[in-house]
This record gives sequence, structure tokens and C-alpha cells, in this order.
Amino acid sequence: MKSAGHGAASTATASTTTRVVAVVGAGFSGICVAIQLLRRAGLAPLRVALVEPRADLGAGLAYATRDYPYPLNVAAGQMSVDAARANDFLQFARAQGIQAGPADYLPRPLYGEYLRARFAEANLAAGDARALHYRARVLQLRRSADARWELWLDDGSALRADDVVLALGNGPPAALPALADISTSGHYVDDPWSIGLHGHENIDSVLLVGSGLTMVDAALRLAAIRPRVRHIHVLSRHGLLPESQASAPRPAIGPDAGAIGMARGSLRRMLRAWRRLAGEIGDAGGDWRELFALLRAQVPDLWHSLDAVQRARFLRHARAHWDVHRHRVPTGPLSAVRSLERLGVLEVHAGRLESARLLDDVVAVQWRPRGAHRSRAWLVNRVINCTGPDHLVLHSPDPLVKSLLANGLIRPDAHSLGIEVAAHGQVLSASAAPVDGLYYIGPWLRARDWEATAVPELRAHAARLAQVLSGEALALSA
Ligand SMILES: Cc1cc2nc3c(=O)[nH]c(=O)nc-3n(C[C@H](O)[C@H](O)[C@H](O)COP(=O)(O)OP(=O)(O)OC[C@H]3O[C@@H](n4cnc5c(N)ncnc54)[C@H](O)[C@@H]3O)c2cc1C
Repeated sequence: MKSAGHGAASTATASTTTRVVAVVGAGFSGICVAIQLLRRAGLAPLRVALVEPRADLGAGLAYATRDYPYPLNVAAGQMSVDAARANDFLQFARAQGIQAGPADYLPRPLYGEYLRARFAEANLAAGDARALHYRARVLQLRRSADARWELWLDDGSALRADDVVLALGNGPPAALPALADISTSGHYVDDPWSIGLHGHENIDSVLLVGSGLTMVDAALRLAAIRPRVRHIHVLSRHGLLPESQASAPRPAIGPDAGAIGMARGSLRRMLRAWRRLAGEIGDAGGDWRELFALLRAQVPDLWHSLDAVQRARFLRHARAHWDVHRHRVPTGPLSAVRSLERLGVLEVHAGRLESARLLDDVVAVQWRPRGAHRSRAWLVNRVINCTGPDHLVLHSPDPLVKSLLANGLIRPDAHSLGIEVAAHGQVLSASAAPVDGLYYIGPWLRARDWEATAVPELRAHAARLAQVLSGEALALSA
């Protein structure tokens, strides 16, 4: 068995009281927790073991190097690892010779490089307490006789740790039942970021299922393929494209912003206050959607104040609209999509996918427009699943997640948003009891906080988790 604990003891002066923290998954969330822990290396006797199959730490699904320079969806000034050093990412970009400002949307691979650079610095500064990267996938987690954790890896070895942080990130998109007949054919693509790689040239017409941020990535990439794709159908239930990031200056809103806090506990009052504040911003000449940025930090508290019935009501009636206004894209990519629409290359449809069948070398797709009684059909060369990562825990293909569920170590929430996690990041078991030494960070925190998928929220969680793991929070509250 490969043991991080033994490894630490043999390579360094770590004493037997040194705790080993295994971080499973090193996308943004995992690497950010590791950076925060490494910076505390001199303060707490900790060793960090990162378990991540990818060679590029920090890349995850979002910031990997790809054959196309997809831009970040969040401006450079909000993407630093530390909220307190807002321009840190920007300074890194400038040091690479990129002249950019805080409102610019820089390439995603550059962000991956930034995360690796900050990790390398923190690791170097940690000296003997530097983190180890195990290039493997964790298949299972078990309690050992001495109440530590055993992490069984897909290379046949195992690691031992005192604390485990699950930072498993975004899974693949949900399988679409209507596409079952073509799902194993080369005409179906479930990784939208693979477009442009071998086998996707010379396609005449495409169906993109989903009309959100992932669709924008796919449309941008398709537009760059030569010879040109002649027709791109976009189909989603509501046919809503994401909105663009605000271009109007952010207005200062007055003390009335507190009104939203006063509405805690009542969805109806919250929505009323939200509409009124949006109106005030509009009247002041601003872009009302900036309300999301202005009140973002309050969202978890508001969400916590709603009971299960009100949360369900919000998800049923307001979720689609929340998503398009809150998860926006930079103006550039959205304008590119809009000009494809104007040229007649891209068409957005609201409706339901019914079936897809292979006919020689094309796919016959049947769909029903929203509100219509009759179905319609298209013939396309490719169907690309752009519905985005599937957040349904029970759908996860990850053997680790399956085993955590089977062993009752995690508990999906009632609204299928993620898993239940206690205030300090500790995972709740199937019986809703906090699991000693098992923590979670990542998009499944939506179950607890609703807003939890982007860097500004995740970096705050990472900093708090590192405090808890290094005993700081306990010391502060003692
Ligand atoms: C395409 C895309 C673009 C985005 N752009 C932005 C943006 O511009 N700004 C922003 O704020 N947010 C953006 N996001 C949101 C994004 O979710 C977060 O910013 C962040 O990347 C999430 O990081 P993560 O570490 O939680 O997940 P991931 O990046 O998905 O990383 C999870 C990691 O865990 C590893 N892993 C999974 N299972 C195991 C296992 N069993 N054993 C070992 N390792 C495992 C995976 O290999 C992966 O590297 C984007 C998301 C996507 C999908």
C-alpha cells in the first residue's frame, strides 16, 4: 500500500502527529484547497496528498488546454485565487505579456496555467511539507481499523489519510433517453469540447441539444470549422439563450438593498423585493441584471431561510429564468452566436426532443415545438449534447461516488441539486450525521447554498475549509 502518511514520514521530518489531508480531485476546487493548506504549512502539522488522474493540476473540466481558446465566463478581476487580492490573476496575465484589464475575459487555458503557477509557488514555499500528486483515480474510500481513511486507487495501490476532501467537480452531461438509439454511434457527441478534433470535419448540419453556456462554446467552435457547417439547430425546452454580461456601468444601489434581507423566509417577499430593486437599478440608468452581482453574497443566506416547499417552488417556476440571467456570457461570444443567427446559420428552437434514428449516414431527429400538437423532423449529421454537466448525484458514473452512496457516506439532497453538507464543509451521511474527517467542496454545494458553482464562491469555501482542516476555525471559536 502506498501511504501518504508513511511517504511524508520518510521524505520529511514530519512527526507522527502530522495529519495527512487527501484532496480527491484537483480541478479549481481541489487545487485551491491545496494552495490554502500549503500556505498554512508552517502553522499546522499537515501534509497534502492530491489525487488527480490528469497531469495538469487545476485544469479540471473548465480550464484544460484545448485546441480552441474558449474565453472565461467571468471577468479577470473576479478570478483570483484570493478574494483579497482581486488583481492577482490579472497580474499573472500581464507578466505573460497579455495586456488586459479587470473587465476582460481571458482564455481558460491561461487560467489553468495561473492556478498551476500559484500552486507551484505555495508548494515550493512549504519546503518539506510540500504536497504530493498521485496521478490516479480514487475508486473507493474505507475506514481503517485505526479510524483513518483508506483511499483505494485505480492503479491498485492505496493511500491512508486522516481527512479527505472530495473535490470531484463536474460530471459528464446526462444521457438523453430520446437519443438512446444513436448514443453509441459516431453521430452522437457527448463531449462538446471535443468538436473540431478528428472526425468532426465535413459536417453539414448539426443539432445542439441545450441552449446555455455549453451551447455557446459548441457554436463558437463549430463556427471555426472549415469547410463551414451550414446549419446549426439549437433545441431546448424554453429556447432561451444566455444573456450577455452587463455593459452598462454598475450603479450604486442605496440602503434599500437591505430590503432583500428583510424578506428572508418568504419566497414571495424576496421576489417582490428583487423586482423592486431591479426596477430601481433600471431607473438609475443601470443594467438590472447587476443585481445578481450586488446581492450574490447574500444568496446562500436567503436560500437557507427558505423551507423545502418554497425551494421547490423556486426551482419549478424561476430556475430557468434565474439561470439565463445569472449565468451570463461575455458579450463577444454571445455576439458571435447572434451573428450566426442573423446569417441564418444558427436557429434556436423551444421544444422537446422526441427521438433520433440513424438513416444511412444522417440522423433523423423528431421533436415537438413548445405548445404545438404536431412533431417536426430534421436530418442532421451530428447531435451534440450541450445540456452541461449532470448534477444529479445518483447519475454519477464515478465508481467513487457510487461506492460513497452505497456505503451511506453521502446523502443526495431532496431537490437533486447535490449532496448535503454541514456548515463547515463536512459531509452528511445517509442518516444525516456529519461524517468525521470527510469534507466536500464543489458544485454539489448548490444543495446547501444555491450559488456555489463559480470561482468567487468556491475560493471562499476553499479558504474556510483550509481553516477548518488546519484547526484555525476551531481555535478561533474556542
Ligand atoms: C466549461 C466550463 C467553463 C467554466 N468557466 C468558468 C469561468 O469562466 N469562471 C467561473 O467562475 N466558473 C466557471 N466554470 C464553473 C466551474 O464549475 C468552476 O469554476 C470550477 O472549475 C469547478 O472546479 P471543480 O474543481 O469543482 O471541478 P472540476 O473542474 O470538474 O474538477 C474536478 C476534478 O476532479 C477529478 N476527479 C473526479 N473524480 C475523481 C476521482 N474519483 N478520483 C480522483 N480525481 C477525480 C477530475 O479529474 C477533475 O480534474 C466553468 C465550468 C465549465 C464546465
